[in-house]
Amino acid sequence: MYAEIIIPLALPKNYTWMIPVSMQEEVAIGMRVEVMLGANKRYAGIVKNINSNAPEAFTPKPILSVLDDAPIVYEHQLALWEWMAEYYMCTEGEVMQAAIPSHLKISSESVFVLNEQQEEDLKNLSDAEYIISEALEIKKTLTLLEIQKLLDKKSVYPVINKLIQKGICYVQENMKDKYTSKVEIFLSLHTQYKNEAALEKLLNEWTRAPKQLNLLLAFLHFEKTEGSVQQKSILEKANATHAQLKALIDKGILVAEKRKIDRLASDPHTGNTALHSLSEKQKEAFASVKEQLLEHPVGLLHGITGSGKTQIYVALINEVIQQNKQALYMLPEIALTAQMIRRLKQYFGGSIAIYHSKFNPNERVEIWNKVKSGEIKIVLGARSALFLPYKNLSLIVIDEEHDPSYKQQEPAPRYQARDTAIYYAKQLKAKVVLGSATPSVETYFNAVSKKFGYTYLNERFSTGALPKIELIDTKKQPAGTAILTPQLLASISKTIANNKQVILFQNRRGYAPYLICETCGWIPHCEHCDVTLTYHKAKNLLSCHYCGASYPIVNTCKACGKQNFKQKSFGTEQIEEKLNQSLPGVIVARMDLDNVRGKNEHDQLIQKFEQRQIDILVGTQMVVKGLDFENVDLVGIVDADSLLNFNHYRVNERAFQMMEQVSGRAGRKNDNGTVIIQVSQLQHPIVQLVQQHDYFGFYNFEIQNRKHFSYPPFSRLMSLLFKHKENNIAEEAANHFLHSLTPEMQKTVLGPAQPIVNRVRNKYIWELAIKISKQPQQLQLAKKQLLHYIRLLQVHPRYKSVNIIIDIDPN
Ligand code: ADP
Ligand code: ZN
Ligand code: ZN
Repeated sequence: MYAEIIIPLALPKNYTWMIPVSMQEEVAIGMRVEVMLGANKRYAGIVKNINSNAPEAFTPKPILSVLDDAPIVYEHQLALWEWMAEYYMCTEGEVMQAAIPSHLKISSESVFVLNEQQEEDLKNLSDAEYIISEALEIKKTLTLLEIQKLLDKKSVYPVINKLIQKGICYVQENMKDKYTSKVEIFLSLHTQYKNEAALEKLLNEWTRAPKQLNLLLAFLHFEKTEGSVQQKSILEKANATHAQLKALIDKGILVAEKRKIDRLASDPHTGNTALHSLSEKQKEAFASVKEQLLEHPVGLLHGITGSGKTQIYVALINEVIQQNKQALYMLPEIALTAQMIRRLKQYFGGSIAIYHSKFNPNERVEIWNKVKSGEIKIVLGARSALFLPYKNLSLIVIDEEHDPSYKQQEPAPRYQARDTAIYYAKQLKAKVVLGSATPSVETYFNAVSKKFGYTYLNERFSTGALPKIELIDTKKQPAGTAILTPQLLASISKTIANNKQVILFQNRRGYAPYLICETCGWIPHCEHCDVTLTYHKAKNLLSCHYCGASYPIVNTCKACGKQNFKQKSFGTEQIEEKLNQSLPGVIVARMDLDNVRGKNEHDQLIQKFEQRQIDILVGTQMVVKGLDFENVDLVGIVDADSLLNFNHYRVNERAFQMMEQVSGRAGRKNDNGTVIIQVSQLQHPIVQLVQQHDYFGFYNFEIQNRKHFSYPPFSRLMSLLFKHKENNIAEEAANHFLHSLTPEMQKTVLGPAQPIVNRVRNKYIWELAIKISKQPQQLQLAKKQLLHYIRLLQVHPRYKSVNIIIDIDPN
């Protein structure tokens, strides 16, 4: 018997290994097995197929060991991987790499780390397991080679696998932004006072220690409104001391317990909120979505900002779990905030799990297993949640479906998670609901063409109407006030005077996007990329936003030697500074990649803003996505021109979506919402359409452009990037490739051209853009041809060191 095995590498095809007779009973599709590749590389690969025919050209090596007792992935997942590799022109190994948590990946390069929190009883370990766990206790980490030496044998995967299963070690990961689930102390009422009468008696008979009583009352109030109470926040709220709290605990009134926040094992206090009853309009929309799904695999829920789409998803998901099936709720990574998690946990409590790349490996494997067994019914996650082993997935909700971050850029698989979900759902006979206030042009086109169902919800839940939008002409402003015009400043002051909050949006971080020598026009660039350097005032440096390199501030021009630099344009940092200067006493916070690094910081800032500890939040896209603040009356788009001026076929779509979405953060709970857009191109059609909140006008305008230039949805785009240290080699390779295509195919290609940023991390880039008919057959043919010539280029003596990146349906 032989097995086709997927290895987590970018191999051109899957290879075959022989299944030794002794293992034939054990091996099944979807299990991990240990195999050797080349002379000494070992991998845990996944069995994709088993067959009895020996390969003709070579004698396969034997499988070394079987790692699992049962498959870790379902066959429908393997079919998805195969489709993704085919469609996105990458390898199944690359898909596997993205799809399974690091815990389940073992290779010669892996490093194994002691799990300091393990609780396994060492008596239950085999001799080999014991040796390794002892070594881990001492050294904390071990490489595969070290383990092989310790056990004096080559085949050690089964032992490692057992240790991982038993939670004694895990596979080290390169996590730049590790998500640590924090431990917090939570307070609850002692069970004896859960009974109303007992509590009443306690309060009525309270005589001394009024401060303790105050604290207890604050606790009771907090518990009622928030569900669960953190020690830290209650002490703050009640202005109480640790001693007072300790007294309540010692008296057996309150109980303190450590709990991990955001962990899978969910907070027992949540999950009891009854579902909100839907408004009339929401009920109609809910019924309509369901009806559409009877006839269509995909339904679009087009609901204006604040219309309560989340409530409708919740109702849909609720029906799914009533039938004991699974639902996946996808959000763009950045929108996966504690706020959203809290909202959903209120309804679903412990049956919902959160999955994203920043969770630690233990948590991810735990979720993996519980999704596979069907114990977890609802998964809330970003695009990678698509790869979990669903047992009976029946609904996928894709919130903010227009969001560009559903497309993975780097590394392969460069997949569009929304489109992949639609494909996958079809295979699983599951349904997809796409939701947005600003649907992507493709999606709305599909709805208009009746390929997708369509439901429109055009009323805000609490106020009915969308906020009014004022345009301010930045050309007509007194000198030096272009960043914060007098009108914007006045509105901000008024809003804050009314005890309301403000969000200001600017799509650039840093202080000034570039510096320019006023004498000769020289602009400092990154040494590794063709990118101007952004000036960061607080850090006092220049930084490249492409590769992250930073440089000291330049004072002397490298071209003319003068010291005459001027800052051009402005970023969030400068807005923050200007606000602080103009509005003393007002509390301003900034939310962008420079000061919000991890998920925790993002959540904390949102929470502070929710709790009104901040008056004005200045930020990049981060402030846009799906957030629901009830106290924000004013939203300002500080520099709309920066959204309108770049060269991309989607520029109008992105600009409309961004502005409409930011606007949607204003006046969500009352009708005083106002949006101010500062712009010099007042007559720009997109600006005009945003001012009217006119999505349909936008679509009609845009779809004509797309048709005229035969851009998606009227064609498919592919981009091929050729990257090389030497500019002329990259260019030649692109040309060589182009001329190897058939004349027919060549007609569909634009370029080679240099992208706007034509050098990144010391590599020059040349691009071919390909527009292909959407006919599946033509597409397949084209891909086949492309792949063939790419392979030829990869073995060409002059071009084999050129890095070729294929991007299907690029953003
Ligand atoms: P959207 O996602 O469409 O922008 P949300 O789902 O965030 O809108 O809803 C906007 C606000 O209105 C939220 O604060 C939400 O809790 C509230 N809301 C919406 N529908 C209801 C409802 N049926 N009952 C109570 N509150 C609701
Ligand atoms: Zn100069
Ligand atoms: Zn750079």
